[in-house]
Amino acid sequence: MPKIRIVGAGPTGTLLAILLTRRGAAQVELYESRPDLRGAAAESGRSINLALADRGIHALKAAGVLDALGSAMLPMRGRLIHHANGETLFQPYGQRPNEVIYSISRHRLNQVLLEVAARHSGIQLHFEHRFEAADFAAGTARIRDLKEDQVLNVPMQPLLAADGAGSVMRREMSALNLIQARETDLEHGYKELSIPARPARGYPMAYDALHIWPRGNFMLIALPNDDGSFTATLFLPKQGAVSFESLRDCAAIDRFISREFPDARALMPDCVEEFKAHPVGFLGTVAATPWHAHGLAALIGDSAHAMVPFHGQGMNCCFEDCVEFDACVARHSSWEAVFAEFGAARKPDTDAIAAMALENYLEMRERVADPKFQLQQALSLELERRFPRQFIPRYSMVMFHHEIPYRAAQQRGATQAAILADLTAGTVASLAEVDFERAESAISARLSPV
Ligand SMILES: Cc1cc2nc3c(=O)[nH]c(=O)nc-3n(C[C@H](O)[C@H](O)[C@H](O)COP(=O)(O)OP(=O)(O)OC[C@H]3O[C@@H](n4cnc5c(N)ncnc54)[C@H](O)[C@@H]3O)c2cc1C
Repeated sequence: MPKIRIVGAGPTGTLLAILLTRRGAAQVELYESRPDLRGAAAESGRSINLALADRGIHALKAAGVLDALGSAMLPMRGRLIHHANGETLFQPYGQRPNEVIYSISRHRLNQVLLEVAARHSGIQLHFEHRFEAADFAAGTARIRDLKEDQVLNVPMQPLLAADGAGSVMRREMSALNLIQARETDLEHGYKELSIPARPARGYPMAYDALHIWPRGNFMLIALPNDDGSFTATLFLPKQGAVSFESLRDCAAIDRFISREFPDARALMPDCVEEFKAHPVGFLGTVAATPWHAHGLAALIGDSAHAMVPFHGQGMNCCFEDCVEFDACVARHSSWEAVFAEFGAARKPDTDAIAAMALENYLEMRERVADPKFQLQQALSLELERRFPRQFIPRYSMVMFHHEIPYRAAQQRGATQAAILADLTAGTVASLAEVDFERAESAISARLSPV
């Protein structure tokens, strides 16, 4: 039975271990540098909840993990926009009852994945074991047992590096010229703030929505938690006139949050202290090619293709990787062939979602507040109602249709955007003014059925 080594027991490494061992055809040694988080409290200040969508759900179902998440998944039906003038506007994400995304605690999800993994006899979990280096000539990886301060040299054949955006393996492969890798930092960073639960007074805000305060060059968002609280994330330039760097003292921080997000400020009693205490998180895109070397080691998940979080797809995309990798393992007998097919199948899709995630930043912080954009959103849903086999809004293709690859969503999305721009050009300001006959001929000429 093949023994597979995986580095990193985050969402990708753990789900991959479960998928690879569930048919009893492989054994997995899973090495994680941090201590076991089962039974431990969550770390504060670092992206504590995530949006889980159809692609991630599909993968969790395939691995038999979804049922264990149960009430930890909180449905969000749309965006609730908080305008600068205090008005709010709800924009539904989709139009069918199942077209929702779920807020889920990162910590809880990771715990559940580890609990399921621990029940698989084919998986050995090694916490506080840090991967340090690879020797491709000898075919071994150096892993340090941090508790014993002992070095283990384990055979790679194969070693899958699910060690996240700052992947040691990717940097090592790149330094050895085995792959080409690029890390592009966004000029914006993020900080987490909390909106506490109000047990006696009901939810502080609508509970079934992702809240957005779009403010042009920056924004605040908030996702619900299962204890009735929300976690807010402030995205702001790292440097410049209005930036994390310029907001140094408590008075300036308070003035900024009170001026830009007065309704949120009223719900965040500790935001100034949290702003001071929490680190600025970095955001960026990782691109690498190829993702493997010598049939010995391969990158998977964020280590291969970390992206900015503005489409809420990073982890969903990683979970899709795991399903595809498992399918490649079932089709091929050599690791070289598995790695080659996995990379060829996934890279065009991960490039597409990384690009769409970057575009979505502008959409979230600026365009959602624009009346023309709002009209185009409403028109997208109307066109989907009228032509459901041909026109599916791009957001829906990405979030609710795992059967449509990211690259197809990107390509169809570009055609659809041109049709929407044309139908809403000039003075068109409402759905009643849209020429639906022209819409029908444009759609039948330019979009094949999905
Ligand atoms: C602010 C923010 C918000 C996000 N929101 C969303 C969202 O709403 N929806 C979504 O789908 N995605 C979201 N993401 C992306 C998501 O968090 C990542 O795509 C996902 O966590 C990647 O999983 P991973 O297992 O590949 O990497 P990671 O989650 O980074 O896990 C890597 C694991 O490897 C371990 N490790 C690292 N180095 C070593 C080593 N040398 N040896 C051993 N172990 C090691 C780490 O301790 C960690 O456990 C967000 C990201 C950010 C930053």
